[in-house]
Amino acid sequence: MKDFLKQLGIKNENAGTSTGQTFLQNDEAPEIMSYTPVDGSEIASVFETTKDEYEEVIKASLQAFDTWKMTPAPQRGEIVRQIGLKLREYKEPLGKLVSYEMGKIYQEGLGEVQEMIDICDFAVGLSRQLYGLTMHSERPRHRMYEQWHPLGPVGIISAFNFPVAVYSWNAMIAAVCGDTVIWKGSEKTPLCAIAVQKIIAEVLKENDLPEGIFGLITGTRDTGEWMTGDERIPLISATGSIPMGRAVGQAVAARLGKTILELGGNNAIIISKHADLEMTIRAVVFGAVGTAGQRCTSTRRLIIHEDVYDEIRDRLEGIYQSINIGDPLDPDTLVGPLIDKDAVENMQTALKKVKEEGGSVLCGGDVLENMEGHYVKPAICEVENHYEIVQHETFAPILYLIKYKTMDEAIGYHNGVRQGLSSSIFTLNIREAEKFLSHIGSDCGIANVNIGTSGAEIGGAFGGEKETGGGRESGSDAWKAYMRRQTNTINWGDELPLAQGIEFDV
Ligand code: NAD
Repeated sequence: MKDFLKQLGIKNENAGTSTGQTFLQNDEAPEIMSYTPVDGSEIASVFETTKDEYEEVIKASLQAFDTWKMTPAPQRGEIVRQIGLKLREYKEPLGKLVSYEMGKIYQEGLGEVQEMIDICDFAVGLSRQLYGLTMHSERPRHRMYEQWHPLGPVGIISAFNFPVAVYSWNAMIAAVCGDTVIWKGSEKTPLCAIAVQKIIAEVLKENDLPEGIFGLITGTRDTGEWMTGDERIPLISATGSIPMGRAVGQAVAARLGKTILELGGNNAIIISKHADLEMTIRAVVFGAVGTAGQRCTSTRRLIIHEDVYDEIRDRLEGIYQSINIGDPLDPDTLVGPLIDKDAVENMQTALKKVKEEGGSVLCGGDVLENMEGHYVKPAICEVENHYEIVQHETFAPILYLIKYKTMDEAIGYHNGVRQGLSSSIFTLNIREAEKFLSHIGSDCGIANVNIGTSGAEIGGAFGGEKETGGGRESGSDAWKAYMRRQTNTINWGDELPLAQGIEFDV
């Protein structure tokens, strides 16, 4: 077994359920195998959470909520600060595990753990800044203000492609808000979830904190459905594909619960004839092939002005020939494997559809059969924006090129998809840049100028519009979704005036 797995306490068989400090070991439970996409081999197995264990996790979470909500927010922040310190200690082995189990290159694995550390730091500061507003009452001798109270256990469902960072965006913010959390990670990356849970469990134990502030369950869609249908969980934050979000959104809405939905993107960069092309090309390549095109913010469409179209196309084709594809833990590798065989097949199907709809595959798309694991060559295609396949997010490194003449046409193509996550324009022309950022420009939750679509910072609110789900996580005031707002009015006078001047004498 690899050293980094040992350092993280990963064994051949792992308990996949934790009520906080305690991992429930149930040899009778069905198992999930974790495979590495690096060579397709088995890493270890994980016991799935049973229905009885799920009940224990919920019970622990509800009990812990009673204590945690009574802990002052800055003290909750202190615990999150210690989690951040612990993550710093484990940054290397955890970054390696992310790389080994998910397939992103080690640099990006480290980056993901750094995001966890950053959000801990952010949450510590936030723990003293859960501000409510005060308002002037229309009634004399009255005071009005609002306060934010903890919500309860928060269910977190996460995707395989960010197996640790997305959890921390939710969990660390929820924790300072006074909520407890129950996490169901992706069945494709169960070891990452267990490793993070163990790190957090150390901090809980050192501080003698109750079970259940941070709970973990392991399983597939069915396990996730236990949470979405569970009235004891007031908020479900779900990250994943659009079909998953539709199912989660409907299940939680049916019981009038709250959701934060962070779903698929179909992100585009507009490249103007006024762009700095050197910078543009670098941003495009990182956005399109980074994480082998498996980021929700990956660049999927390039909308290029006709004057620079040929140059951009030719230069990208040249660069795509020399991209190093291989073992994500090898420092020379730029593109690792796709997560599994299905992802490779989906990419092949998408490329076939491009041709059927009249587009062309300019380069790439080959499956690297000579390598063990799920390796493909990133592809570039010439298409039209309205093609059915271009309207979909294919979670693989396929870059679609689309030509435009006018900025209005470019923005039309840009917004002419059902998703609305991340977007950008490369231009040195201030009118074009400002138009893109205005209300008649990009319709996405994230809109950048001279920066690519992927690689967001934790300080801003992260999320997207339309079928991307409308949720916001991480920085800015995204914390408000994890609390309940209460408006308070206090009458300090000796009369009882009614609002709107209503007279009601009894
Ligand atoms: P997925 O939808 O297959 O699974 C995501 C998670 O949802 C898994 O844990 C899965 O078990 C669970 N799940 C699936 N159906 C469910 C249901 N009906 N009820 C409850 N839980 C259910 O997604 P994936 O393949 O793991 O991840 C890739 C997708 O995630 C892409 O579409 C990507 O764009 C999206 N994503 C979005 C963001 C964002 O912030 N917007 C971030 C990362 C990934």
